Amino acid sequence: MSIVLFGPPGAGKGTQSERMVKEGKKTHISTGDLFRAAMKNKTPLGIEAKGYVDNGQLVPDSITIGLVREVLDANKEGDFIFDGFPRTSPQAEALEELISEMGVSPIQHALFLEVPKQVLMERLTGRRLCKDCGAVYHVKSAPTAKEGICDRCGGETYQRKDDSEDVIATRLEAYAKSTEPLKEYYQQKGLYIEIDGLGDTDSVFSRIKPYL
Ligand code: ADP
Ligand code: ADP
Ligand code: ZN
Repeated sequence: MSIVLFGPPGAGKGTQSERMVKEGKKTHISTGDLFRAAMKNKTPLGIEAKGYVDNGQLVPDSITIGLVREVLDANKEGDFIFDGFPRTSPQAEALEELISEMGVSPIQHALFLEVPKQVLMERLTGRRLCKDCGAVYHVKSAPTAKEGICDRCGGETYQRKDDSEDVIATRLEAYAKSTEPLKEYYQQKGLYIEIDGLGDTDSVFSRIKPYL
């Protein structure tokens, strides 16, 4: 069965997804990663998404849902981890439709990663990414062995444009307005599970593991 992983920006969704993929043999779909890849390759989707992503706004539902439909169309087999999708109620409804229409493995749990705002700020401002392979680091909690160089592939690391304090503020507002209501949406569906996102990545993963 598939899993929805949601929570505020910087909660650790990407980090935990990577662990979940290793453990559970599920396919990872991160709309954030897909938008960044499209932006890097300057595809029509990337050019369209860039203004929203760089300014910390949600990409419109029609574009985001279209993207997920395309990805699922290319591979609907097996179970999925939906990371950072859905982020709005219309996206949540569209995901259910896509699942039934396309015969995709249904959602077993909607795991919500709970992290207080002050910690989110620290996680987001210290986040670094590899330009080449997308690996995620943190200047304090998960530094690269050699400063600025990816441990995994030797690529250069960089700071996301939207990880600056002012853009983070916009993202947190978008989260509160559009994504937080999904808690109630999934509670009503009986799928909601809250995971304490504080502590090191191993401790957080040990709380997720029973649901894989
Ligand atoms: P999200 O995908 O939810 O935005 P990430 O997985 O990218 O979050 O994590 C945000 C930042 O916080 C990254 O720099 C990551 O290395 C760091 N991080 C993730 N989980 C933890 C944790 N449990 N403790 C400390 N830092 C963490
Ligand atoms: P975060 O660290 O905030 O969880 P992501 O990498 O998941 O970041 O997303 C980065 C940006 O990509 C978002 O701020 C938004 O502009 C866009 N994005 C990602 N997923 C979605 C989505 N499901 N709906 C709309 N916009 C999205
Ligand atoms: Zn790398």
